[in-house]
Amino acid sequence: MNKKACALADQDVSSVLHPYTDARQHQVNGPLMIDRGEGIYVYDSEGKEYIEAMSGLWSVALGFSNERLIKAAEDQLRKLPFYHIFNGKAHAPSTQLARQLLDLAPVPMSKVFFTNSGSEANDTIVKLLWYRNNALGKPQKKKLISRLNAYHGVTVMSASLTGLPNNHRGFDLPLPQVLHVSCPHHYRYGAPGETEEQYADRLALELEALILKEGADTIAAFFGEPLMGAGGVLVPPRTYWSKIQAVLRKHDILLVADEVICGFGRTGSMFGCDTFDIYPDAMLLSKQLSSSYQPIAAVLINDHIFEPIADQSHQIGTLGHGLTATGHPVAAAVSLENIRIIQEENLVGRAAELGALLNEKLGGFADHPLVGEVRGHGLISAVELVADKATKARFSTPGRVGGYLAQRAQHHGFITRSIGDAIAFCPPLITTQAQIQTIVDRFEWALIDTERWYASQP
Ligand code: PMP
Repeated sequence: MNKKACALADQDVSSVLHPYTDARQHQVNGPLMIDRGEGIYVYDSEGKEYIEAMSGLWSVALGFSNERLIKAAEDQLRKLPFYHIFNGKAHAPSTQLARQLLDLAPVPMSKVFFTNSGSEANDTIVKLLWYRNNALGKPQKKKLISRLNAYHGVTVMSASLTGLPNNHRGFDLPLPQVLHVSCPHHYRYGAPGETEEQYADRLALELEALILKEGADTIAAFFGEPLMGAGGVLVPPRTYWSKIQAVLRKHDILLVADEVICGFGRTGSMFGCDTFDIYPDAMLLSKQLSSSYQPIAAVLINDHIFEPIADQSHQIGTLGHGLTATGHPVAAAVSLENIRIIQEENLVGRAAELGALLNEKLGGFADHPLVGEVRGHGLISAVELVADKATKARFSTPGRVGGYLAQRAQHHGFITRSIGDAIAFCPPLITTQAQIQTIVDRFEWALIDTERWYASQP
C-alpha cells in the first residue's frame, strides 16, 4: 500500500467504535483487517490465511464463499430487494421461511416473528410474553429467569438476560425484572465429591427455591441456551434439562430456548432442543439460519403464546411491534437456500461426526499440565486452561493466559476465541476431517508457545 492509501486506511479504521474491544488499546493496536473469505478460511489485507475455527461469530455454517447463497441473494435483490411485512403485507421469502421453520421445529410451534439479530429476538419474545400476560389478566407475571454466564444479546433487555459481568458493568444493567440462577458447569461449580446428577438436582432445587421466594405468579419465563456458547461452551449434565423442565412445568413458567448458536446442526442435531430433550414454548434462531450472509433472526412461538397475543392485538387494533427489516426478503431468501443446503448435504449428521472427531482429538490434550477440562457436544468444544490441574485453580489474572494462546493461534493461522481461559472451537459445518486435524495441530503449536511463555513468567 502506498503512503497515501495507508494514511486513508488508518483514518477509516479509526473512525469505527468496535464491539467487544478495548477502545483505548485499539487506538494503539489497530485492527486486523479481514479482506476476503473462501471455504473455512479468511485472508487478511496482507494476504495471510487463517482457518476461521469460530465460524466468524459461531455462525458461518457454509463457510465464506458459498455460491448458492450468493446467487439466492442476487436473485432476490433483482426481484424484490426490499419490502416490509407491516400492515398485513407479505412476500414469498418470509412466508416460505416461516413455514419451513415451523416444519423443522422439534415441538409444535404456531407462528414466527422475524428480527435482524439474536438480541432483538430476545427483546421481542420478552415483549410478546409481557403482552400475553397482560392479555391474560396477569399483569404481575413479568419477571424473567436467566442464568449466570448466559449470553442472550446486548440490547437493554437481552443484555439484562445475559449473565456476564462485562455486559452489565457500566451500563446500569441488568433491569430489575431479570433474575439469574447458576449455570450448569459441573467441572467449575460442582461441589467436591458431587456427581453430575447430584449437581443437576441441586440446580433444580435452586431454581425452585427462587420461584417459591419470588412467587410463581410473578415469573413469566425461564431463558436458556441448550448448550451455553459465549459463556464458555458449557455442556449441561445429562439430566439437567429434564430436571429444570419439571420445575418449570410444575410452576407454570414458560421456557424460551435460545438456539441462536445451537440451531441448525451445531450440537449434532438440527436443534439443541433435539440434542438435550428440551420442549420449549418459544425458540429463538439466528446465526446459522442464514450462515450470517444476511442479518436475520426468528422467534418461534407456540399456540399458548400466540392466542392471547392475537386477542390483545385485536382489542388494541394492532400488534405495536416490528422492525423495518422484519422478514427482509433477501435475508429470508438466503436463509431458505442455506437450510436447503444444510439438509441436502446432511451437514447436521456431518457436524455430529466431525464433532466426535474434534472432541476425541482435543481429548488428547487432557493430560497437558495447563489443561483443566476438554468439553464439547457436536461441533462445538472448548479447552479450559487452569493454573493448577489438581485444584482447578484459575490463573492469577483470569483471561490472560487464554488471551495469549488465542494470539499465538492467530499467529499460526488459526482464529479461535478465548472466553476467560477457555479456548473455543466452533468451525464451519463444511469443515473436512483433514481440516479438523489442521485446527488441532495449530492449536497444539499455540499451546506449546503458551506453555513456554507461561513458564517464563515471574
Ligand atoms: N443469543 C445467543 C445464544 C447468542 O450466542 C447471541 C450472539 N452471540 C445472541 C443471542 C445475540 O445475537 P446478536 O449478536 O445477533 O444480537
